[in-house]
Amino acid sequence: MNEVTELNDLNREDEAREDLKHEADRDYPKPFEGTLDINKVMAERDELDRLLIKMCDLVARTEETNDLLKQAKDSYEKLYEELRSRIMNFEHLLKMIGDKGEYKGCGAEIYWLKSRKGKPMPITIKGINHFADCPKADNFRK
Ligand SMILES: [Zn+2]
Repeated sequence: MNEVTELNDLNREDEAREDLKHEADRDYPKPFEGTLDINKVMAERDELDRLLIKMCDLVARTEETNDLLKQAKDSYEKLYEELRSRIMNFEHLLKMIGDKGEYKGCGAEIYWLKSRKGKPMPITIKGINHFADCPKADNFRK
């Protein structure tokens, strides 16, 4: 061992002693004093058992809730996909049989279709005659 390592080791020892002093200064819980009341201990153990059973029950119910939420999410996603594809099919149909346009006055996106009597009808993507839901419809009615 050379002089430098010897010095380093001494410093380390000093540091370790300082650390130990600080450890001793810490406020650790006091050790148990007095006699054990076996009935009290048993009662506390029973209470802990009850709490444990309660906790297990809560965990089980949480898992059940998560399962239900997952089912609901799956159903919602399925429904959403179905609705999306229906809307796309409907839009596709509108594009095939009507002329896409913009309703003057409100700027709504509409498709011009013809009624059986040959009258033009502005149909929205919702499948509604735009005369029925246009906020500015009154401006066009005479
Ligand atoms: Zn409108």
